[in-house]
Amino acid sequence: MKNLKLASLNGDNNRRTIVTVGNVKIGEDLVVIAGPCSVESEEQTVITAQKVKEAGANMLRGGAFKPRTSPYDFQGLGLKGLKILERARRETGLPVVTEVTDPRDVSWVCEYADVLQIGTRNMQNFSLLKEAGKVGKPVLLKRGMNSTLREWLNCAEYILAEGNPNVILCERGIRTFETYTRNTLDLSIVPSIREISHLPIIVDPSHGTGKVSLVEPMSLAAIAAGADGVMIEVHYHPHEALSDKDQAMSPVLFAGLMKRLQVLRSHMNEMRWDRERKSQEEA
Ligand code: PEP
Ligand code: MN
Repeated sequence: MKNLKLASLNGDNNRRTIVTVGNVKIGEDLVVIAGPCSVESEEQTVITAQKVKEAGANMLRGGAFKPRTSPYDFQGLGLKGLKILERARRETGLPVVTEVTDPRDVSWVCEYADVLQIGTRNMQNFSLLKEAGKVGKPVLLKRGMNSTLREWLNCAEYILAEGNPNVILCERGIRTFETYTRNTLDLSIVPSIREISHLPIIVDPSHGTGKVSLVEPMSLAAIAAGADGVMIEVHYHPHEALSDKDQAMSPVLFAGLMKRLQVLRSHMNEMRWDRERKSQEEA
């Protein structure tokens, strides 16, 4: 694809970027990022973090800066939220993924985040992308809800072109005419990205569907489609969540999902092994 000098495979079909965060290798291991939509309190975040860790999650998510549709909705705790995330990381050892919404905040949010998230509404915020490209932290770049694959990869290119090679793509659903689900989770983007880019790609079925009942089936489908991981919203008391409560899993539901993800992963490993063996036999 034209102008994707750094984001595309450039003919090297075996090239894969691995983004290392703590002891997790995104692009190699199956990564599960879980936690609340928003950081609401120390108790809510730390307990949720402990629960997702017990269930086997590798990283903690939680928003301290929340880009909300209405200015009257809960906007996040800002710096106080980041300090709570720091506490949750200390208690659990889980690396933290958190969103940054303003280019002026990038350098200091890096002091608290292990991975900077750029959300769907900011995918084409070019000054934010450039700032994120100047720091060494890995960046989780969500797909814009109205964006094509080409537009999305061009945004990744902005970060790469500034010298930061650690970009993780995240499909989180796009706008279609369908209203039953919050968004339409475009899983065909996963193998499509694989065909043209070396960047790891994960899937967020929580925002992708908006419905807790659909999160498990779409998580499994994402892994079956070849995703490098999933990002799941989990809240210790989902009905009390200050944002996105309809899509939040309880810790019990999440633990069930983790068990089935592990089973699927071992099947996927076998299939990969089969594919490798076949290509060796053909060679
Ligand atoms: C989020 O993950 O917290 C979030 C706001 O997601 P998105 O940008 O995909 O809406
Ligand atoms: Mn959310």
